[in-house]
Parts: sequence; structure tokens; C-alpha cells
Amino acid sequence: VVDARNISKSFDGMPVLKNVSLEVRKGETVSIIGPSGSGKTTFIRTLNGLETPDEGYIKLNGELSFRKDPSQPNLKTQLPQGNQIKNIGMVFQQFNLFPHRSVLQNVTLGPRYHRFGSAQELEQEALSVLEKVGMREHADKYPHQLSGGQQQRVAIARALAMKPSIMLFDEPTSALDPELVGEVLKNIESLAREGMTMIIVTHEMAFAQRISDRVVFMEDGAIVHAGTPPEIFEHSDEPRVNRFLSDFN
Ligand code: ATP
Repeated sequence: VVDARNISKSFDGMPVLKNVSLEVRKGETVSIIGPSGSGKTTFIRTLNGLETPDEGYIKLNGELSFRKDPSQPNLKTQLPQGNQIKNIGMVFQQFNLFPHRSVLQNVTLGPRYHRFGSAQELEQEALSVLEKVGMREHADKYPHQLSGGQQQRVAIARALAMKPSIMLFDEPTSALDPELVGEVLKNIESLAREGMTMIIVTHEMAFAQRISDRVVFMEDGAIVHAGTPPEIFEHSDEPRVNRFLSDFN
């Protein structure tokens, strides 16, 4: 479903991604872990067009979404199309809900904009995704009336309402008080169990270990190591991974 190859990107001459390649199959949950500043966030933002790589190519659902190859000046740079981006849901560290819209309006806004159905249909669907994250009873509230964990669950519902084929999570619990982390992780975990294709940047190691099919370790703009949770968390012979993990224990 996701095929990203040789993605490179610099900010102000500083390389942040160096030749990063990642393939994710349908239904897979892949976690990206690694030290702060290693490029995890920047990488997943390239997948839905929020960052433009300097080089590389990205295929989404079998379709070329991005391609840039400076060594071939005749090859036209391809940028993601609207319908490709629409197909990717993203949940951010800061929930980014619209403050002056109710929970229900936050969830229906995207589908309404894209004319996914009649107002009534969209409301029904919004209520059903809110139900899924346990927020249906709060549909008429405004973001400031909710806890951080509840806001993040609404943000998940909002992304799901667009019926994405891939969900990206960028440190979805980093901005939450510790007691609110669990409820959000539970929602993400049930999505994984339902077979949603997901890429999750996270600092929650136990969570990554529990839900991932594959774990990718990034350091200094590159994927240093990737494997199943046991390969990464239990018997990795990659010293950089072990050094990183020992800081968490
Ligand atoms: P963290 O775990 O702290 O979120 P990360 O692995 O997600 O880190 P990124 O946020 O991708 O890392 O950042 C990688 C590097 O790129 C950092 O050095 C960061 O300062 C830099 N960077 C990110 N975005 C920009 C930007 N828009 N302009 C300039 N530098 C940036």
C-alpha cells in the first residue's frame, strides 16, 4: 500500500532524511521509533505531501504519488494529487481540532467538503466513527470542553471519517497527561486489530512492541534497523537500537 524509496530531504542544507525506504503492506501496523530529531516526523509527513522530499519516489495504493530525481532533469517532478492525499488519514501530536466547531462538525467537515454524501448520511457516519472511539455522547461539545485524550480521540474519528486506506500517527500521545495516554492507545490498538494499515511514530515502547507487525528504528535521518517486535525489542544485535532502548528502561 505504501512504497517509499530513497527519500532524501534537507532543511537549510542540513540533511534530515538520507535515502529512507519503507514498504508497508495492506493491513500492516508499522511503528517508527528512534531518538529525537532523527527524522521520524519529517518522513511520515512526506507520505501525505506535508513535506516535499528533495529526491525519491512514493507509491500509494499502487499509484505513483511523488517522484523527483535531480539526476534526471528531464523527468518531471510528480506531486501528490488531491485524491491520493485524501486517502491518507493523519493524527498529529497536537490534536489540531477546529476550536469553534463542535465535535460533530469537526468530524463532518472533511467528508462534507469532499461531498461524500448528504448531510444526513454524513452525520450518521460521523456518529458511527465517534462511537468507535467512544466519543459519540460528546458529539455536541466543543474541543475546549474535552480532555486532551478525548480531543485526540475526536481527531482519530475525524481522520477515519474520510475513509482512509492508510492512517499515519505522529506521536499521538506525546502531548497528553500520562493518565490520558492509555485511552488513546486503546483506540489505536483496536484499529490495528481491525486491519487498518498504519504507520505510527511513537515514543511508547511497550505499545509499539505490543501492536506492531514491524518496527523501524531511525537514527540521524536513516533507517538503521527494522524487524518484528521481538527482533527489535528482545534480541537486537544492533548497538544503536540497544543503546536507545536502554534509555527507556
Ligand atoms: P522527535 O521525536 O523529537 O519529534 P523526529 O525524529 O520526529 O523527532 P523530525 O521532527 O523529523 O525528527 O526532525 C528532524 C530534524 O529536522 C530536526 O533536526 C528538526 O529540527 C529538523 N526540522 C524539522 N522540520 C523542520 C523545518 N520545517 N525547518 C527546519 N528544520 C526542520
